[in-house]
Parts: sequence; structure tokens; C-alpha cells
Amino acid sequence: MNRALVPFREQHTQFQISPEYARISMAAAIELGLKPGRFLRDCVCGCVNLLQNYPEGCYANCSYCGLARERPGVPEGNSFIRVAWPLYPMALIAERIAEREHLSGVGRVCLSQVQDHRSNDDLLSMVALIRSAVPTVPVAALVNATTMSLMWLERLRSAGVSNIGIGLDAASKRIFEKARGRETCGPHTWEQHIEIMRLARGVFGPMNVNCHVIVGLGETDMELVDLFAWLKQEEVAAYLFSFNPEPGTAMQHIPRQPITRHRRIQLVKHLVEEFDIAPSAVSYDPGGFIASVDVDRELIDRAIESGTPFMTDGCPDRTGVMACNRPFGSYRPGEEFRDYPFVPGESDLEVIRVQLNLGEICPAYA
Ligand code: SF4
Ligand code: SF4
Repeated sequence: MNRALVPFREQHTQFQISPEYARISMAAAIELGLKPGRFLRDCVCGCVNLLQNYPEGCYANCSYCGLARERPGVPEGNSFIRVAWPLYPMALIAERIAEREHLSGVGRVCLSQVQDHRSNDDLLSMVALIRSAVPTVPVAALVNATTMSLMWLERLRSAGVSNIGIGLDAASKRIFEKARGRETCGPHTWEQHIEIMRLARGVFGPMNVNCHVIVGLGETDMELVDLFAWLKQEEVAAYLFSFNPEPGTAMQHIPRQPITRHRRIQLVKHLVEEFDIAPSAVSYDPGGFIASVDVDRELIDRAIESGTPFMTDGCPDRTGVMACNRPFGSYRPGEEFRDYPFVPGESDLEVIRVQLNLGEICPAYA
């Protein structure tokens, strides 16, 4: 247990906590020159992803997350989605963002909440600081649905937030209960996440709200594909992530999904979202995993050649181009790309085609 023993009113002086401090993704820290390093293949980090910091990490208890309250160790030593998120004063981060915006532009800033009673007030303060430093850089908030409400969503909109992310993570209520809800003794419910997603869709408009969805928490392919189709109907974006076991968490020994499964899910998601394929075009084996995709070869080839299905899903920059490309978000430096933070080139597409092994599931490729 990483419970803090210091009373809340004394924590500001003892810990470096939000809203004065925030964690920053390692990729964004490198992009802003706060940490040394560089990206391979001239990739840039298009979004500055920030995360609230409190002594307890997060009061929720999601079984795959490095910030979960029952994960051993102090939160400062923990990571979020497997890569360290260093801590800096918000004032310094805002200053660096303003410098980078002046030099070459910043695609977007995103502020992620955790479950904490201070989180909503602090989110607004953090948004205000970023908006005053860089008024034209779009800001997203990855909100904690459990403490969110219509009033807070409207306040975020008025404060200048353009996009809302909901960390749904689970593809179905069944998986949600296991990984985030009742079975983890956590505070989250599926119903509250769906309710906040719909309210946010009303306040922020079509496709300005997204649900993060993780592949590999124990869901079936059918649950994922059904969710993609439903979110499309709701005009809410589905943004894919890949489960990566975090040491010390309840799911630390669960293996990652095979890359072939991940690629097929990425491809079918794209076909559902961009080409409106009929649900009957995809059939499943008795376990709920894709057995066959009966779609014209020309359509599939076009999707693959664009490279888009295999790129990171993320909120756009001010011109509408995907900004939140999260280098190392779903894999570590040196590991194969699960999602590409840039448009995959021809040699990448060759690898992707082998990984997809479409001859096994597409009559058109047999
Ligand atoms: S609510 Fe988010 S930060 Fe908190 S334990 Fe769950 S996944 Fe982690
Ligand atoms: S896609 Fe990126 S910018 Fe958008 S809410 Fe998620 S983490 Fe934030």
C-alpha cells in the first residue's frame, strides 16, 4: 500500500503536488529539452502530455495501472503505462511549452486527471496556466469520469479545453468490472463512464470526445469491434492503446497480446470507422476472436497502404492533424511499434502485412 500519512493540508509543503507540479511524459520531456534524448527516425512528439501528481498516486485501483493505490511502492517511484513520467513545476513546463511554441509550434497540450478529491479544481488551475502561456495551443483534458459532472465539463469548456478524453480502457462492462470496477475494489463504474462520455459529447461536440480503449485486458475481438461500431454511432472517437504489463501491478504477469491480434484489431477498427463495413463482414470463432473478414481486397489494400490504421490514435492539432502521437506510449524504446507515431513507410508496411497474416482470415487474400 502506498498510502500517504501526511494530512492533506500539509501535503503542499511536503510533496511536490498539483496544481503547482505535474508529471510529464518522457517523450514530451525530451521534446521540451527537460530530459536528454532523441527520437528515432526524425519522429517528433506532437503533444505535451501532463499528469496530475499527488502523494497517493491515484485513489482508484485499476489492475493494470502503475498509479493504482494498492500497487506496492511510493507513487514517485512508479510509472504510468510503463515509462517513467518525471515531475516538474508547472511554471517551468508552461515556460518551456511557450518557448517551443515560439520556435516550432506545439501541436497540443493534454492534462490527465487521477482520482483525488482535489483533482477537478486543480485541473482548472492547470488549464488556466497553460492557456495563459500559450493561448492558441489546443488543450485536451483526459478526465476522471468518476469525479466529473456536467458542471465541471462546462467549466472546462469555458476555460478553453477543446477535447475531452475518457479513460474507458475496458472494451465492455464485463472487462471493466474485472480491471477497474467492483472486482478491484475501485471506485469506478461503467455506467458513470458512459454517462460522462455522453455528457461530454453534448458539451464538446461530435468527435471532440474520445474513449481510450486498451487491447489486451482480457476482452474478445467481438467486444472491441462492437464497441468501435457503437462509439462511431455516438460520434465519439475510439483511441486504441496496447496493454503492457506494469511490474508490481495485479496484471504484471499477464502477457501482451500477440502483434498479429493487435494489427488485425487496428485494421478492422479502421474499416468500421472509415468504410462503414457491415457487422456481418466480420465473423468470430467460438472464443470471440476474429475468424474471417469478408471485405473487398481493394478496400483492405487501400486501408493498409494509407498506413493510417497502424498509427497512434490521438487528439488533433489546431489544423486537424493528429497531434497526440505518444512515442513510447504503448511500447518501450527499442521495442517494436504497436502504433506508429508517424506515417509508416513502405518497409514498415511490409512488416505490417506479415504481422497481419491476412491469408488466414480474409477470403480475398487466400
Ligand atoms: S483511474 Fe487512471 S490513474 Fe487511477 S489507477 Fe485507474 S488507470 Fe490508473
Ligand atoms: S488522445 Fe492524447 S491528447 Fe487526446 S485525451 Fe488522450 S492523451 Fe489526451
